[in-house]
Amino acid sequence: MELEKIRKLVSLSKFDICHEKCAFDPFKLIYVSKAGSKKVNLFKTLITSSCSFDCRYCGNAWNKGVKASPQEIYKAFKFLKEKGFVSGAFISNAISDPEKSMEEILEAGEMIRKENPSYLHLKIVPGASRDQVKRAAEIANRISVNVETPSKSIFNEICSVKTKEDVLRRLRWGLKEAKKRGRSFSTQMIVGIGESDEQILKVAEKLYRVGVKRVYYSGFTPVKGTPMENLKAEEKRRVVNLYRADALLRLYGYSFKELKETFTNGFLPKEDPKLVLALKKKELKAIEIPGVGKKIAKLLESGYTLAEIKRMGYSVKRISAFVNQRRLHEFSTE
Ligand code: SF4
Repeated sequence: MELEKIRKLVSLSKFDICHEKCAFDPFKLIYVSKAGSKKVNLFKTLITSSCSFDCRYCGNAWNKGVKASPQEIYKAFKFLKEKGFVSGAFISNAISDPEKSMEEILEAGEMIRKENPSYLHLKIVPGASRDQVKRAAEIANRISVNVETPSKSIFNEICSVKTKEDVLRRLRWGLKEAKKRGRSFSTQMIVGIGESDEQILKVAEKLYRVGVKRVYYSGFTPVKGTPMENLKAEEKRRVVNLYRADALLRLYGYSFKELKETFTNGFLPKEDPKLVLALKKKELKAIEIPGVGKKIAKLLESGYTLAEIKRMGYSVKRISAFVNQRRLHEFSTE
């Protein structure tokens, strides 16, 4: 196993997000990610970085890059697992020929599955066949298809080989196969290539409605040597706020229509959208209070005071700051 080659492929896989807070340790070749509420150390890699597609933001486009075989990827996973560095894997691939590239992901995935990984995520590449999507859902805990952007016109500007229709078809297949087998399904959008927050969150809401488990937001980072190298990197603040708005859609039952009340010219406010929404409302449910997650909401609804909740070890700093503006007993907890 050529460690340098694997290290390069692992590092080139960084543009695919496994969790919004996933951290990469290049020395151990691992990503620390989350599967549900559990932390998982992942071996996250491409099999090859040679791509015949032309996505304008990607350093692998038209590139004769580094190549490994599915066996080499499997051996690297086995080695890292035996050393105790990783327990799961996330396998993706650049595209030489779509079906061949997907086949390599499946081959590596099938070998890794035999090692009982705690988590296995397989990427569905554009152009994968229906049968390959089905096999991926049989092997993996999670499969994913990257939507890339909510806008069809932006999609056509940034990629000419892969098409939005192609991606959406795999997304529909993937979702269907994942649901049948109780697997989870995720996707990713690039943030900062001309789309608005409104476009992103409108699509995110639709995706959650049809059963997508997670939508990840990847702030655009210009890559040297690509046609988009001179574009500005997206601000972290925007990505953080999109994740906050996403949590409101996904976890707190807000609708896109409600979020839209906070937009200015199609963009979220600079502040936490939950705070902006809470300040607009006369009556708030516990879950709608900034700083209140599901657990604290339950405690508030059961009659515990903030002081008691704090004594239980929860941070109530954000809640207290908000309560300074509006007294808690004014809020309905129904
Ligand atoms: S398909 Fe596009 S994004 Fe994926 S590796 Fe190839 S050029 Fe990059």
